[in-house]
Amino acid sequence: MTQKIFDCVILGAGPAGMNAALYCARANLDCALVDISAIGGAPMNYLEIENYLGFNKINTFDLCEKFEQHIDNFNIQKYPYCEIEKIDLTKDIKKIKTTEKEFLAKSIIIATGASPKKLDIKGEEEARGKGVSYCAICDGNFYKDKIVCVVGGGNSALEEAIYLSNIAKKVYLIHRRNEFRADKILQERIKQIENVEFVLNAQCKEILLDNKVYGLKIEQNGIEKIIETDGIFPYIGLSANIDYFHSQLELTPDGFILTDENMKTNLDGVYAIGDIRNTPLRQVITAVSDGAIAGVNVSKYVLNSEKIEIKK
Ligand SMILES: Cc1cc2nc3c(=O)[nH]c(=O)nc-3n(C[C@H](O)[C@H](O)[C@H](O)COP(=O)(O)OP(=O)(O)OC[C@H]3O[C@@H](n4cnc5c(N)ncnc54)[C@H](O)[C@@H]3O)c2cc1C
Repeated sequence: MTQKIFDCVILGAGPAGMNAALYCARANLDCALVDISAIGGAPMNYLEIENYLGFNKINTFDLCEKFEQHIDNFNIQKYPYCEIEKIDLTKDIKKIKTTEKEFLAKSIIIATGASPKKLDIKGEEEARGKGVSYCAICDGNFYKDKIVCVVGGGNSALEEAIYLSNIAKKVYLIHRRNEFRADKILQERIKQIENVEFVLNAQCKEILLDNKVYGLKIEQNGIEKIIETDGIFPYIGLSANIDYFHSQLELTPDGFILTDENMKTNLDGVYAIGDIRNTPLRQVITAVSDGAIAGVNVSKYVLNSEKIEIKK
């Protein structure tokens, strides 16, 4: 029996991947949506979004559910919990070997997002799960009436500090500069919260733990200090989830996939969208927008490739 060739396989079922799938399916492409985890993406790890047009405030689970319900109206084959083992993007027909099955595809859209950067300091690895967490919504509840540190100065850090201030007794917000780069509206909001204390111009040096975290060593204005804390939540930026693709694709110096304005990478039939690419803004709205652009361009590519012979 000959193996099925999908018109497009989309890797990553976050907002970008889901919207790409929607646009591909509406153009009548036969597509598969593959994710190492559940359908939904990064928004499943936090609580609310207040900057998605049309909703003053929406619960992220509700938003992802709406996204999924929408794509379920179309013939999109979903493969959650499917781990990539090997991938070859260089030929006309792309091959993706996963734990579940091998996919062949005329085109690929990479939408595997980005993961939180590590602090890269002593104690961080050992402290993971023992007081260091990269997801306040997942682990925040363990810190009821305790002391926590959030590290970072962007929107995510401030949002998570605000979230944790409702659970923990005290939140230290530690930032290496003397001002935050988060939206002004968040900065104004966090200043009103009594149990959040700013620790500015501070570098994290070491996480102190015995069986669990009990402190964070910082250097502030040249002086070393220890902040007694039960939990540490680093939100200092993102690195692209490119494990399987990096050797085959052109990347930016900081490791994100380089695309043109049509979301095309350096390889024919390979597109990248959302947080994983060289985008100036990593948000749900920009991710879904990338998905739409890629969906339309992939449809053109597949139509065009049907006119020429594809080599396996
Ligand atoms: C704490 C936090 C708060 C945020 N708050 C907001 C906000 O208020 N408003 C806003 O607009 N944005 C917010 N964002 C950013 C927003 O969530 C992202 O920009 C958006 O989710 C990017 O979508 P994406 O589809 O590109 O990637 P993701 O949502 O990250 O989805 C990527 C998907 O790829 C999957 N994947 C990863 N590796 C593989 C692999 N090897 N194989 C298969 N699948 C894989 C993942 O499981 C995931 O489902 C926030 C992010 C964080 C972390």
